[in-house]
Amino acid sequence: MITATHRVLSTALATALTLVALVLISPAVADAPDASADGCTWDDQWTRALSDLGEDPKHWTVRRIPNLSGTIDDRYDPPVGIVDPTIDCELVDSVVRHEWMHLQQVRKYGDVPAWGDHEEIVADCGSWILGADATPYRDRMAESRGVACTGPELAEALALIEFTPSHEAKRQQ
Ligand SMILES: [Zn+2]
Repeated sequence: MITATHRVLSTALATALTLVALVLISPAVADAPDASADGCTWDDQWTRALSDLGEDPKHWTVRRIPNLSGTIDDRYDPPVGIVDPTIDCELVDSVVRHEWMHLQQVRKYGDVPAWGDHEEIVADCGSWILGADATPYRDRMAESRGVACTGPELAEALALIEFTPSHEAKRQQ
């Protein structure tokens, strides 16, 4: 009887100790680099996207842009890519790729007097080719005209992507 009780207590104690050990170990595991592989880190997304595109981070800036996720400023030479710091981490990669397409439009065509629907859908078709997950202009076009990107839009986007060969197109690998 005593032995049986002792065994039950021992088992309970062992379980309790295991739980304490797990609780103590958990924070360390969470802090390990490998454990954050499924997480999203804004700076990591930013750095990786710019690196994929072969961009010099000093020609990009993070600052508040009211009502926009990203934009470019072509008053500078070279033009500057801008991303709003309040966007979700999961959107950073897509926004950088979309704005990069706009930079390519300026680099290839020179001055782009007014941003219109055509520039936006081509930028989104290009960012999609480059692996962007979020392409709102494509989504809108798919809904309104039944086709996300037309053949000519994809061709124009590809030509813009190929204009600077220093990036890696994720979707083409
Ligand atoms: Zn745009």
